[in-house]
Amino acid sequence: MHSATTPFAADVVIVGASFAGAACAIAAAQRGLRVVVLERKHDPGDKLRTTGIIVKEAAEQTLLGHIPASMTRRIEEVRLYAPSLKQIALAAPGYYFLTTDTPAVMRWLADQIRLHGVDLRLGCLFTNAERTAGGWQVDGVGTTRYLIGADGARSRVARRCGLGEVRQFLYGIEYEFPGASLAESSALHCFISKRYAPGYIGWVAQSPTGVQAGLALRHDPAHARVPDIDGFLLRVGRAGGLRRHLKPGHTRAGLIPCSGPVFDMARDRAILIGDAAGIVSPVTAGGIHSAWEHGWTVGRGIAAHLRDGGAAPEQVAIEAAPRFRTKRALRWAFDRLQFDWPFDLLLYSPPLRWAAEQVYFHKRRS
Ligand SMILES: Cc1cc2nc3c(=O)[nH]c(=O)nc-3n(C[C@H](O)[C@H](O)[C@H](O)COP(=O)(O)OP(=O)(O)OC[C@H]3O[C@@H](n4cnc5c(N)ncnc54)[C@H](O)[C@@H]3O)c2cc1C
Repeated sequence: MHSATTPFAADVVIVGASFAGAACAIAAAQRGLRVVVLERKHDPGDKLRTTGIIVKEAAEQTLLGHIPASMTRRIEEVRLYAPSLKQIALAAPGYYFLTTDTPAVMRWLADQIRLHGVDLRLGCLFTNAERTAGGWQVDGVGTTRYLIGADGARSRVARRCGLGEVRQFLYGIEYEFPGASLAESSALHCFISKRYAPGYIGWVAQSPTGVQAGLALRHDPAHARVPDIDGFLLRVGRAGGLRRHLKPGHTRAGLIPCSGPVFDMARDRAILIGDAAGIVSPVTAGGIHSAWEHGWTVGRGIAAHLRDGGAAPEQVAIEAAPRFRTKRALRWAFDRLQFDWPFDLLLYSPPLRWAAEQVYFHKRRS
């Protein structure tokens, strides 16, 4: 195998041990590459920035389907609430989401990375890398043939390697209520409200360990506003089946890329994947499945290139990135034309139901 004779310390160094990084690492390691993953957190289940809801496709077509059942909870229905709190139930035969005990899932993912022979270095912050002949010199690691930025929406790898950066975001914030339970726990409760969640929605969901409730809104650094999650929960909590006066445990918060894949996501043996590459649905703000798929394809692409002379992995990364053309157009429209009254007026109408079902259950990658 090529790596026995190579002077490189690693074939691939991946920054970030979340969904994109894990997928890329496992895919490359399964094909015999020497993979190092740097993760700045000491505990991968700490300081989460995701609700952790996994869509059916990811649960059935990827390794995420092997997450132990005790860490997931199946949700088969979406309750969509207009700003007036009128509601409709949406479902598609056979479709489901999994809410997760996300800290446990992230630790399980780290175990999977290690089980596949990857050198996972927790508590290791990526700081810098310099271009060398045929690869990169990564501070604290040594030389590598490929450097992968799986380090999220504000990617340091992108900055250090001169790659494209995500410029448009939603900001999501969520409370966890450990041990709490919802009156209707089999539904994902989604709330439309221009007041509390302009540009996106709010949600309340039962997870295996409690209730998660949050909202996301357009992030405008020039006019940053603090999301009023307490006001939101006061307004919708009862409708969503959340008991009053519950005290939140942890808070999860973070930026969500919302303008589609970045320009210049891969060049000179440096490749961005997942959130770092902007690969998040601009409409649903779901990024776990797309991060996984992109990371996996890039991991496989690097192995195919190094072992069998396959296509350049940079090209593979660019071609595998979903463009989200329709969803970007929908985001553009929602950003400019969001009003509460059409949802209040038309919630029960067949076209609105149809459109909502398309968003939640169909054409997830178009
Ligand atoms: C509040 C919120 C809720 C969300 N809910 C959902 C949801 O329910 N379902 C869904 O599909 N999507 C959801 N998303 C989006 C989804 O979480 C992301 O798209 C997904 O996590 C992207 O995975 P990733 O591996 O690309 O990046 P991330 O999950 O952001 O992981 C990046 C990793 O890199 C590490 N890292 C960063 N910088 C460095 C560094 N310099 N050195 C070493 N390590 C570093 C971080 O610690 C982290 O572990 C949500 C996002 C937010 C903010």
